[in-house]
Amino acid sequence: MRGYVNIPKSVYCKPCRECGARPIIAHAGIEGYVVKCPNNETHYQTTPGIIDIEDWNIHNALLYDNDYDLKL
Ligand SMILES: [Zn+2]
Repeated sequence: MRGYVNIPKSVYCKPCRECGARPIIAHAGIEGYVVKCPNNETHYQTTPGIIDIEDWNIHNALLYDNDYDLKL
């Protein structure tokens, strides 16, 4: 069963770089979950697996986006 889960407001995540939408979590079958744009399949989505909001944030960070804090 395919479904979408809204990310809780308490979880920090960047809006879609293309359209500004808040991402959603979608079930991607046996592979796990993807974090994706709710508006367009062609906008960035994470690789299926664990729910990886960190990866979404990295890929949707803008170059001038100073609030992005890379912690490695
Ligand atoms: Zn989008």
